[in-house]
Amino acid sequence: MKGICEVCGKTKTVHKNQKTGKTVCGVCCRKDPETHQKCFGCKEKKPVAAYNDSGEPLCKKCYHRDPTLYEKCFGCGNDKPVHTRDKIGRPICHTCYQPRWRAQKSAV
Ligand SMILES: [Zn+2]
Ligand SMILES: [Zn+2]
Ligand SMILES: [Zn+2]
Repeated sequence: MKGICEVCGKTKTVHKNQKTGKTVCGVCCRKDPETHQKCFGCKEKKPVAAYNDSGEPLCKKCYHRDPTLYEKCFGCGNDKPVHTRDKIGRPICHTCYQPRWRAQKSAV
């Protein structure tokens, strides 16, 4: 959800932290060890990278593994976690980013 982060005061995508009761953005949430939560994926206490659709906390590793966050990669056409996007917003997976988009960048 969009809202004002109680820590940095910026209008961002924020989450209410159940433990601290604060509404914070992802950046501030990750910085604060108080907000580390038991990851829904690996069950380890880690900084929360994101919340899934059911509001369960996910660490960075598990977040990238979450199939709901996958998109069809523009490069290879497979459903992959989005590593980056090109200028017009097409998703590029990690694998395709390496050879193709880096080569393009260095060629300029
Ligand atoms: Zn913040
Ligand atoms: Zn995890
Ligand atoms: Zn790809």
